[in-house]
Amino acid sequence: MKTQTMPEVDRIAANKAAIAARRARARIKQALRSGEITPEAVLDASMQANSAAYSLRITDFLLCLPAIGTAKMPRALEKLNISDKKRLGGLGVHQRRRLYAFLSDRTQRKVTPCLTVLAGPTAVGKGTIAAYIRENYPHIELSISATTRPPRSGEVEGKHYYFVDDAEFDRMVQNNELLEYATVHNTYRYGTPRKPIEKLSRQGRSVLLEIDLQGARQVRKAMPSARLIFLTPPSWEELVRRLVGRGTETSEEQERRLATARVELAAQNEFDEVVVNDTVPHAAERVVELMSTAEEY
Ligand code: 5GP
Repeated sequence: MKTQTMPEVDRIAANKAAIAARRARARIKQALRSGEITPEAVLDASMQANSAAYSLRITDFLLCLPAIGTAKMPRALEKLNISDKKRLGGLGVHQRRRLYAFLSDRTQRKVTPCLTVLAGPTAVGKGTIAAYIRENYPHIELSISATTRPPRSGEVEGKHYYFVDDAEFDRMVQNNELLEYATVHNTYRYGTPRKPIEKLSRQGRSVLLEIDLQGARQVRKAMPSARLIFLTPPSWEELVRRLVGRGTETSEEQERRLATARVELAAQNEFDEVVVNDTVPHAAERVVELMSTAEEY
């Protein structure tokens, strides 16, 4: 008598097909996140029963959209009246229609300021706040600056900075490749590559620039809609303690940086918002909150 279990050869084929489908869905998610394909195109493709988009979960789909995280996603589903168990291929006609309307509404509201500048006096902890945001708030894109400063231990090319020599920095300036640039502490040059910012802004991504005050002023001129946040220390004494405590600079360099910081602290009234760096998680949360108030749907 024949048994009902699947023959071994079929089971292997089914496993292979499941793995291929999972990979295809992962590719779609990646392409959605990077802006390579639009959410509307994925929704169109999900009409085909043999497509990878067909079996994509609605929850995964929404989480790939800019500025939708685990907090906003359930709210969006509730508003759309779609169960979190659904896959795109299983959406009803009305659900699909509501989802298209939701996407088009988001596209039209892309006028919100997507660019936020975080500046403040030297050693106030901008870098630490930016690193915390990078690790804990993945929906926020951090601009990666070019610098002529040599890498510190642990710094990774293309993650923390693009480390370039003077000739390359000159070339970038001449080709107008930098949105802003400045010589910081009279030593090394730092600049924000323009292209990635423009691309991310077009995709509606929230972009954070952690730069010095001179750079912040240039961004304000070039992009008046950018939001400027000033990070301030709880006190001057705390700022000195942080700068000396960091131990990465010589005493001459520390003096130079403190002199810059004194002038920089006076500039906070040029900014849209001031955030006190009391604790890293709290200050980071405030920055992210300020960034997301402009992108509510
Ligand atoms: P560090 O050498 O400690 O990484 O950074 C030194 C200073 O350069 C920090 O105040 C940082 O905000 C600033 N900085 C980093 N990237 C940029 C940039 O692209 N443009 C400008 N103007 N300043 C930057």
